[in-house]
Amino acid sequence: MKDEEITCFEQLELSSEILKAVSRMGFMAPTPVQAQTIPLMRQGSDIIAKAPTGTGKTCAFGIPLLEGLRDDTDDIQAAVVCPTRELCIQIAEELRQLAAFLPGVRIAAVYGGQPIARQLTALKKRPHIVVATPGRLLDHMSRGTVWLGNLYTAVLDEADEMLKMGFIRDVRRILNATPADTQVVMFSATISREVMDVAWEYQHNAAEVQIAAEGDSRPRIAQFQLMSSGSRRTEDMLRIVDLLDLHRVMVFGNRKSTVRQLGERLRRQGRSVDCLHGDIPQSQRNRVMSAFREGRFEILVATDVAARGIDVDDVEAVFNYDIPDENEYYLHRIGRTGRAKRHGMAFTFMTPDDRFRLRDIRKYTHSELWDIHFDDRGRLISDEGADVEEIARRIQTAGKD
Ligand code: ADP
Ligand code: MG
Repeated sequence: MKDEEITCFEQLELSSEILKAVSRMGFMAPTPVQAQTIPLMRQGSDIIAKAPTGTGKTCAFGIPLLEGLRDDTDDIQAAVVCPTRELCIQIAEELRQLAAFLPGVRIAAVYGGQPIARQLTALKKRPHIVVATPGRLLDHMSRGTVWLGNLYTAVLDEADEMLKMGFIRDVRRILNATPADTQVVMFSATISREVMDVAWEYQHNAAEVQIAAEGDSRPRIAQFQLMSSGSRRTEDMLRIVDLLDLHRVMVFGNRKSTVRQLGERLRRQGRSVDCLHGDIPQSQRNRVMSAFREGRFEILVATDVAARGIDVDDVEAVFNYDIPDENEYYLHRIGRTGRAKRHGMAFTFMTPDDRFRLRDIRKYTHSELWDIHFDDRGRLISDEGADVEEIARRIQTAGKD
């Protein structure tokens, strides 16, 4: 089956319960990574899938996991291992939505920073699927509250990120505790050395799925850069927010201190704002995330790590208050926007010294950044004189007819 031919979920031969859930979630057609991965996973194949952020990987594994559940065992059948608690919560949520019409399905999220007792209750109910961060999963395994001895499928989500964060030993220990014939499925934005190592060690004849960053699966994001530094960045950012009438934006800073200070400054100016960074306790991070998702405040200021993998629909614009330290972070950051139909804009503040750094990012990410400025009538325009919103509209509609 070639993915080009797949234009609707029905062609993937899904159960009526999943089809109903998918349509309730508002999805019209499978994304390319879903079209390719779902049949392979249901055949039981090991998979190594490389796909950029925002291409729908969660459902790409979530759908086949749910379709494959058996009722002849009480053991954990599938484990999804991912690098952060935020991602863990988000994946569990998406799986629960997919399972909305499968009432008996139990999904447990197991991650650090949450009292173990609460997770014990969920684990005692014999979940079919466990979504976990590596450390906490191992913790439960050593307490005997999680047993993977009858696991059918292990999914490693954001494998590059997870293995890079030094979890490679933990991930090995987890995989070592699964049966030798467990299906191992890996999703990654990049195929790093560590990803290859784990694939080599734990997969058999893995099918390769590759979704290019270019093409239709890439969100259409209008990307802009403007000269602005020091405290003027705050001013310029708010000018843009007000000018374009934005009500859901994410602002990225490289350091916790930047994020904290910026958050405080915005709050003092009466803006509806909250922050996410590593020093914020987990319970509060969860509250901040769901408040942002529900639109209860407008500006979320975050560090890269705290915002990793977070999925909020309708982020209208992303601001790079600082230029990210790593090229890849640039893509992760701007991938927060352009997911839904709304604007999809990314603004990067720079100083003259940053030009080379940005050129490098442009080359690496194959993105086009427009130079913009405020003209003397206060309009936000490109150096060639085009209106920023007009550029965004053109980019969004490009290639769509
Ligand atoms: P990734 O893990 O590849 O970064 P996600 O799984 O987080 O991507 O999905 C990104 C967004 O796309 C989510 O909001 C998700 O609900 C949505 N999405 C997933 N599949 C589809 C689809 N087939 N059609 C439309 N939107 C989808
Ligand atoms: Mg993902």
